[in-house]
This record gives sequence, C-alpha cells and structure tokens, in this order.
Amino acid sequence: MPDDILLPEIEVHDLAFAFLRHHGLSAAQSEAMARVLTRAQRDGCLSHGLQRLPGTLETMAHPAFNREAEPKLARVTPAVVSVDADHGFSILASSAGIPALVDSARRLGIGVLAGRNGFHSTALWPQVEDIAAQGLAALSMNPTHDWVAPAGGVRPVLGTNPLAFAWPRPGRRPYVFDFATSAASRADIALHRQQGRALPEGWGLDPGGRPSTDPAAVLDGAMLPFGGHKGSALATMIELLAGPFLGDRTSRQSAAFDAGHRAAPCHGELILAFDPGLLGGPEHHAAAEEMLDAITDQGARLPGARRHAARDKAGREGIPVSRALHRRILAMMAG
Ligand code: NDP
Repeated sequence: MPDDILLPEIEVHDLAFAFLRHHGLSAAQSEAMARVLTRAQRDGCLSHGLQRLPGTLETMAHPAFNREAEPKLARVTPAVVSVDADHGFSILASSAGIPALVDSARRLGIGVLAGRNGFHSTALWPQVEDIAAQGLAALSMNPTHDWVAPAGGVRPVLGTNPLAFAWPRPGRRPYVFDFATSAASRADIALHRQQGRALPEGWGLDPGGRPSTDPAAVLDGAMLPFGGHKGSALATMIELLAGPFLGDRTSRQSAAFDAGHRAAPCHGELILAFDPGLLGGPEHHAAAEEMLDAITDQGARLPGARRHAARDKAGREGIPVSRALHRRILAMMAG
C-alpha cells in the first residue's frame, strides 16, 4: 500500500520497545509487549499490532496498573501453574508461565496455566502457536468487558471473549485459529463508525435493545455473539472457565474494575496444553494430517494461512506499517 512504509522486524520491535520504555513501562514488560505486537504487525493482524501502542497509555494510567509488575508463579498441583500478573500487562505473566505449562503437559499429558490479574489487550495466537511449535496442542481463552448481549437478550453481560486453538503438525506450521466469540470485534465496529459505514445485520443492538446497523448505537448498546445461541454459549463457557474457575473477574467485574478509565480489560486467562499423542498414540499425526488435507484439497483454506502468507511476504520485503501510525508513535515519544 502506498501509505505504508516497510520496516525490518527488528525496527518494528525496537520502535514498540522504545515507545513503552519512554512511557515508563519496565524493561521486561516492554520486551514482552514489543515482541507480541511485532508478531501481530508482521502477520498482518493490524488491530493487534503497533496500532495498540497509543492505547497502552490509557491502560498504564489506570490507578491499579503496575509499571514495574513482576509475575508471581506458583505450582497449584503438578498439572496446574498459576501466574499472577501483578496488575501489569498479562503477556509477560503468561509468557513466564508457559515453560511450566509445557513441562506439565510433557510429564502428565496435560497442563493448565491460570493467569490472573493482568491487563490484556493482545492477540492469543502467538502463545498457542509457540506451544504447538513444541509439539503440544493448546487452547487459550479470556473474558474482556461486558460488551455483548447473550443470544435472545438485550443487555450486555458477556465479553468479546476470544478463543484460540493450536495443533502441532510435523514438518509444517501448526494449525491455529484465534477469534472473538462476538459477531465482530469492537475495533471493527469502531472502524465502521470512523468510516461512516453501516454495520451488517446481526452485529448488535441499540441502547433500546433493538437490532441496529448504526455502529455508534451498537457501541452504546450491545454487541451480539457470533452464531446465535452457539457463540453465546461458548462466550459463557469462557466467562466461567477464565473467570470464576480461576478466581478472577468476569467481563462484568472487569468493566466495573475499569470504572470508566478506558484501560484494557483486567482479568484472568486460561491456557491449556496437552500431548496430542496421549490417547491417540503414534498414529495420531497421520489421522490428523489426512483430515486437514481433506479440507485444503477441496480449495478451502485453513485458519492461519493468511497470516503465514503475510509473514512470508514481510520476511522478503519488510513489515508494512502505516506512515500515519508511524508518525503518530514517534510524535508521542517526542515530548
Ligand atoms: P476473525 O473473525 O478475523 O477470525 C480470525 C480467525 O479466523 C483467524 O484464525 C483467521 O485465520 C481465521 N479465518 C478468517 N477467515 C477465514 C477463512 N475464510 N477460512 C479459514 N479461516 C479463516 O477474528 P476476530 O476479529 O474475531 O479476532 C481477531 C483477533 O482479535 C484475534 O487474534 C483475537 O485474539 C483478538 N482479540 C483479542 C481480545 C483480547 O481480549 N485480547 C478480545 C477479542 C479479540 P487468518 O489469521 O489466517 O486469516
């Protein structure tokens, strides 16, 4: 795109790291954030790339946010590790817990990482992809803020609650999907408002609980889950497993904790890792590959294929970054 500049991966990383350090975030948190934002930018997941940087200032301004947070790990059982993010960004805490999670899954066949008290604004796929790169399958989920009405209801109760899954593939990049359980992301609805475009039917309700295609009305009213009662139930499961099960906030409680500061939601996150050969034995890979090939053989694409193509292109040409965003980030470091 003519409005983009192409930067080497290290420059994208260093720009994000410098921005966060400039605004007083600890080196360890800045590094964890810079790495995950750079991966999203590289893979063309722009809503979770460098575009997230300006918003980190609102999160860091929350009275509970801890710029010097240090994750606190505890073994709960041989299979379960808990990591308290100490009210910093959750990505440092979950990254710190993954070696223990992988260790549990290797030794016991399954491992559970219970992340708690983290401000969360990053995509989930980088971590499940990393776990799959170590030969394990992984699931990750978390609540957000109560922006989404349940199917059949009119008032927001559920979060946009993302769910990510990864499956290792010998000699190939893992199978990975990662999406919100709302019909669209909040960022996408905000983009429609900015561009003056109407929403597709089924994305949300106005503040009176009526179906609406007006993005401003939906942002003030309620978003809807994808797939009607099915997405609603999945989002509810995520509330339960990544909220009360972890002893942390639901999306309703996360929004109350935010108290209008417009910080990233602060809550828990659940990551599960399991050995794909535990029950299926050595044959499991052949059966999995045969099934996945039957999807692609008919021209359907696997989730992750678009990201991988963007990653390969970025590796050849550099990572595209919008000129306007690049200028804005530099200007926000000038003072
Ligand atoms: P999308 O609806 O864009 O769906 C993304 C997933 O579906 C990707 O795995 C994508 O693969 C795959 N996909 C898309 N189109 C196809 C297709 N035609 N065939 C096969 N697979 C396809 O995602 P969302 O907007 O719901 O979420 C985007 C991101 O937002 C996620 O990374 C999520 O983690 C993040 N998020 C984070 C939250 C948080 O609390 N931190 C809250 C909500 C969302 P590919 O990438 O290859 O296109």
